[in-house]
Amino acid sequence: MMDRLVCVLPCYNEEEVLPETAKRLKEKMEFLCRTEKISGDSRILFVNDGSKDSTWDIIAALHNENPLFQGLCLSKNMGHQNALLAGLMIARQIGDAVISMDVDLQDDIDAIDEMLEKYEQGADIVYGVRAERKTDTFFKRFTAQSFYKMMSLFGADIEYNHADYRLMSKRALDALAEFKEVNLFLRGLVPLVGYKTDKVYYDRAERFAGESKYPLKKMLHFAMEGITSLSTKPIKMISMTGFIIFFVSIVVLVYCIIGNFLGKTIPGWTTTVVSVWAIGGLVMISLGVIGEYVGKIYLETKHRPRYIVEKYIGDERQNGEADE
Ligand code: UDP
Ligand code: MG
Repeated sequence: MMDRLVCVLPCYNEEEVLPETAKRLKEKMEFLCRTEKISGDSRILFVNDGSKDSTWDIIAALHNENPLFQGLCLSKNMGHQNALLAGLMIARQIGDAVISMDVDLQDDIDAIDEMLEKYEQGADIVYGVRAERKTDTFFKRFTAQSFYKMMSLFGADIEYNHADYRLMSKRALDALAEFKEVNLFLRGLVPLVGYKTDKVYYDRAERFAGESKYPLKKMLHFAMEGITSLSTKPIKMISMTGFIIFFVSIVVLVYCIIGNFLGKTIPGWTTTVVSVWAIGGLVMISLGVIGEYVGKIYLETKHRPRYIVEKYIGDERQNGEADE
């Protein structure tokens, strides 16, 4: 029996690219059906993440034309990660294998074939990894690369150059559903699921149309989210810094006492002011980092829903599992 594939694509104000993406992905799915790689009732699920343009109308029209297309409409903009999770949680109920990808055609659709091959060979999770990023601007490339380096430095181990283009089997998604955290950073969570994993390399293209929905501010926020939801290493680093500063201050104290006995009285205004500022800055940063974690705990204890589904147009759910 051939497996049913579901592709999940979160969309936020993507009216410019959606028709083209739908067309190309449909061709791909039809080809995969013809070559008997996937079953005939495979689906493409677009998640409308509270778009303000005609994105949802396009999705609804696509669904009316062809049942291959399905739509999930969230009640408001929940953010990329939450929209993706919402889609994945529906997809695991209707599909055997689920591929998540961006709607802007940056993820090479042709990598799907290879992903399916690895899936057939027994991998439960297949990461799409960017082979090169020559189409990105220098700024984007630099910030993205620093992102991975910083992440691993702070103890958040994620697959290098892997965004959210990946295949997951139903059982891997069922395992992912067990992670109840509200602070979502999917690419950090997926490796925690385990099972057999594999990689597929692809060239990341330029955005087909429209603008990036990830400006620098969102990216920095995303990096912070990744680090603080995956590791407590920054807090350990703060304690380490505290110890080092304490040690240095003892050395300085000894130095001053000896200096005093030797009759060397230092004017010392500069050092005093500099150290006040330096220590003050460090204390502020440290409080900020701890505050981040306290904030996370606060959010987690509220158990707020991670997304709210307004409407789903597609198959009847296999099991009537409630949405969050
Ligand atoms: N996206 C979303 N909700 C948001 C922001 C983005 O669903 O709040 C979607 C967007 O439509 C796209 C994907 O997330 O399919 C990645 O966004 P984008 O391509 O703008 O990010 P970039 O590739 O520039 O990092
Ligand atoms: Mg993009």
